Amino acid sequence: MEKISVCKSCGACCASFRVSFYWGECDDALGGIVPSAVTEQLTPQLCAMKGTNSATPRCEQLIGEIPGALCRIYAQRPSTCHDMQPYLADGSVNPQCSRARVKHGLAALSEPEPI
Ligand code: SF4
Ligand code: SF4
Repeated sequence: MEKISVCKSCGACCASFRVSFYWGECDDALGGIVPSAVTEQLTPQLCAMKGTNSATPRCEQLIGEIPGALCRIYAQRPSTCHDMQPYLADGSVNPQCSRARVKHGLAALSEPEPI
């Protein structure tokens, strides 16, 4: 899913959590697209975006300052990043998004954006 416009002026979640995912999403696996060079192995099954497996996570692929930071590998980002959305399927605000935004001094979202 494409992120909605509010994410284009944010980036807080890319510097708030460990971004882990199945290693088979990396480009050294058949059909994988995430550049393996920008990931690190966590377990035999899982890897993470470099920079996020830290007490002060910040994905190394995040460019610029929050708010307004951009993903250097947007088209090749892992499923975890695709799945991170500001609103849940029922239209409510994603609490993970709120935690990330507040951590970076931004207001939590309160209203769904008009489509
Ligand atoms: S913290 Fe929320 S609004 Fe900001 S980029 Fe992530 S999902 Fe989008
Ligand atoms: S790969 Fe891109 S979207 Fe995913 S955490 Fe890193 S900067 Fe954010």
